[in-house]
Amino acid sequence: MRRTTRAAIGLAVFALLVLAPLLIMLIGPRPPGRQFWREFSVGLGYIGLSLMGVQLIPTARLPFVAETFPMDTLYYFHHRLSLVSLGFVVAHPLILFFQNPYTLRLLNIFTAPGRARAGVLALLAAVLLIITSVRRKPLGFKYEPWKALHGVFAILALVLAFVHIFGVRYHTSAPAQQVLWIVLAVVWAGMLVYLRVLKPLSISGQPYEVREVLPERGDAWTVTLDPVGHDGLSFQAGQFAWLKVRRSAFSIMEHPFSFSSSEAHYDDLQFTIRELGDFTSTVKDIPPGSRVYVDGPYGTFGADAHTDAPGFVFLAGGVGVVPFRSILRTLADRGDERPIMMFYGSRTWDEVIFREELEAMQERLNLRVIHVLERPPEGWEGEVGYITTEVLDRHLPEDRAEWPCLLCGPLPMLNAVEPALQRAGVPMQNIHSELYEMA
Ligand SMILES: Cc1cc2nc3c(=O)[nH]c(=O)nc-3n(C[C@H](O)[C@H](O)[C@H](O)COP(=O)(O)OP(=O)(O)OC[C@H]3O[C@@H](n4cnc5c(N)ncnc54)[C@H](O)[C@@H]3O)c2cc1C
Repeated sequence: MRRTTRAAIGLAVFALLVLAPLLIMLIGPRPPGRQFWREFSVGLGYIGLSLMGVQLIPTARLPFVAETFPMDTLYYFHHRLSLVSLGFVVAHPLILFFQNPYTLRLLNIFTAPGRARAGVLALLAAVLLIITSVRRKPLGFKYEPWKALHGVFAILALVLAFVHIFGVRYHTSAPAQQVLWIVLAVVWAGMLVYLRVLKPLSISGQPYEVREVLPERGDAWTVTLDPVGHDGLSFQAGQFAWLKVRRSAFSIMEHPFSFSSSEAHYDDLQFTIRELGDFTSTVKDIPPGSRVYVDGPYGTFGADAHTDAPGFVFLAGGVGVVPFRSILRTLADRGDERPIMMFYGSRTWDEVIFREELEAMQERLNLRVIHVLERPPEGWEGEVGYITTEVLDRHLPEDRAEWPCLLCGPLPMLNAVEPALQRAGVPMQNIHSELYEMA
């Protein structure tokens, strides 16, 4: 099935799940004597709740979803839709209070009936969920504690909302309504069970062991893994995996890294990791023989989706070069002769990760690497600064609009280079990005 067809099916199912509570409102007996605004506010609350519930789908790593949509798009969708869901959820009590100010007394969780108390606490959990996510860095949360808290708030918000709905008992009386609510709850809970139980269970039988950790330029380290008791995994160059290093397969402490080895050698798995924070600074000290679980492959980034391309433009920023090493090695293993132009932005010449390997790769492939250095050494005659429209214009071929441009790096780089490419005459549909940020 083509990816666009799969995407259309996925979005249709998603929309159906979001709108399911409205169906629940329609199929059962209408509560007598309810005014329009009250029913309207309840409808908004239901949509908000189901939007919040389906947020578990984009991040659950379901094969159908992960193979259809780029992972950074899924996370973007998750972030944006969460804000929308909060808007719906907050609108529900606001309309009620406006329509009947007497209901404001329900906000007092000490005197309010249990069903209202559950509603207020669900709303509070939803608000905290969003605030701690949107303001994670300014609030000083480290990634892992935040992730655990994120899960707790999400489960609390959903469970308390259900207690509220079943406590109020307006759209839960008919058996068909009850069945539909239960189906929705099972779908949402199923996402968590898949991600935190079934998936870890499947990878727990396929452990890896660290063979060696070798230094690279630019404070990066290449980790080579040996499969233990299995043949290794197959992936497509450009994809990534979540690694759980020296932890159980069920641990939530995991980090995403692109494969850096050739897809042709899947029993010789490599990842290249730059020192950046808590976990990545420990990579150099991982002893050989350490146990690693690899959850992957994920992502749709890579050259294989562009079989008819006359050539490729690769654009890497810093450690964003990693998936290109895998892609280049794979293309070289296949004897691909198409021209490749690679723009590679680094801080200094000494920090250019894979510098020597890229030099050597120009002998094996029809590859030209254009280094762009922020702080060049004395006597440097190459490009200086960042990858700008002017830099692109100086090197891109005349038929640039035909060449797929693959771009990987941190958010500021992507935000600058995507418009620069467009200004240089590359159509948006030919720009394919992998963002090294999820939260
Ligand atoms: C698809 C993808 C592929 C990546 N590939 C590579 C690669 O090949 N090589 C490489 O060096 N880096 C890669 N990264 C970045 C790498 O995942 C982060 O640098 C690393 O997780 C930071 O962990 P830390 O504990 O050292 O840093 P911290 O100081 O704890 O965190 C720094 C920032 O990294 C992000 N981060 C931290 N932990 C996680 C996590 N568990 N999951 C997601 N994001 C997290 C958060 O935004 C955080 O603010 C990739 C990221 C993504 C999204």
